[in-house]
Amino acid sequence: RPTFDVEAIRRDFPILSQQVNGKPLVYLDNGASAQKPEAVLNAMDRYYREMHSNVHRGAHTLGDRATAAFEGARETVRRFLNAESTREIIWTRGTTEAINLVANGLATRLKPGDEILVSHMEHHANIVPWQMIAERTGARVLPIQVTPDGELDLDSFHSLLNGRTRVLALTHVSNVLGTVNPVAPLIEEAKKRGILTLIDGAQAVPHFQPDVRALDCDFYVFSSHKVFGPTGIGVLYGRAQLLEEMPPYQGGGEMIERVSFERTTWNVLPYKFEAGTPAIAEAVGLGAALDYLNGLDRVAVEAAESALLARANDLVDSVPGMKIIGTAREKVPVMSFKIEGLHPSDIGTLLDQQGIAIRTGHHCAMPLMDFYGVPGTARASFAFYNTLEEVDRLFTGLQKIQRLFA
Ligand code: PMP
Repeated sequence: RPTFDVEAIRRDFPILSQQVNGKPLVYLDNGASAQKPEAVLNAMDRYYREMHSNVHRGAHTLGDRATAAFEGARETVRRFLNAESTREIIWTRGTTEAINLVANGLATRLKPGDEILVSHMEHHANIVPWQMIAERTGARVLPIQVTPDGELDLDSFHSLLNGRTRVLALTHVSNVLGTVNPVAPLIEEAKKRGILTLIDGAQAVPHFQPDVRALDCDFYVFSSHKVFGPTGIGVLYGRAQLLEEMPPYQGGGEMIERVSFERTTWNVLPYKFEAGTPAIAEAVGLGAALDYLNGLDRVAVEAAESALLARANDLVDSVPGMKIIGTAREKVPVMSFKIEGLHPSDIGTLLDQQGIAIRTGHHCAMPLMDFYGVPGTARASFAFYNTLEEVDRLFTGLQKIQRLFA
């Protein structure tokens, strides 16, 4: 498509054209999970109707078709991330499993007193696996501070770096605040000191395309379901040399070269990290989602998303007592907020009655909630298929709730 026609885009997402609670659905919970275009639904349907068998087993035609579709999707992911080789693209169940895999794989490199840097704005998925590995190895997990605006405090980052720092695990984009972190210079700084870097791209890939070679990170992870693909699958990009050095994550079929009771040896990359029958249809679906994104004019998409956020920001003053949490200079269209006199969960329930879906709660980022002194927030997270009229409906809804209940 040469330009961006939001009505045409919306026709690609069948779920959007329905009524919820008697009102046209306004889906603003894309940060939790995005909807799927027909291209993804069709690719998975066609896979099961025409190609399904187990992969990498040879011997018959369906097995070859399934393997070609599955490995084709891996190549699509490689291109999307600009990784050097498909050996560096590991299928996981999602961002969470990818981070657990890396944390486990790096355990043998960690010793008591070593330090793992995360930030105060991480999702629990990029905190807890590191805490579990720290518990096992005697390493420590330390948070980079956040400014009141919701940006990374770079002074805090620099003051935490020292000879014991081994890992920097950082989110590219905050799921609560929408902040886009300046990961490239931080990776560069870490690299100079021999610190390994992992970037959590779960909230970045739905909005822009990362280039792992330009970023020069060691690991980059994301989930399919947030980038318009199916649930149940995600991606770990890892630098080949590091993946070679890491022990396998799970044992079983597919990940071995040879098994005997005397000695078992590991398969080559990427299969060494893919024990068991993989999520084949889901990989095909993710490939179709990335193909769909590649078919859009990404510059126009980013402009449309910025317009949604700008409209939302312009309307904040129209709701008495409404306050935005996270006012960073660089943001994707994600808006966390509170309204004086209203509990976030009540805001969510009352909006749902008007057909408007948002997320409320701690967003799996309890340390960040503590930093802002709130039990939770209400969060509207936009995708390119949302319209300015939907932003207006959100605010009309909030005005009504504020008038009646605050
Ligand atoms: N990191 C971030 C920044 C996220 O937003 C999420 C999902 N909310 C995750 C990690 C975890 O992703 P998943 O549940 O798909 O593994």
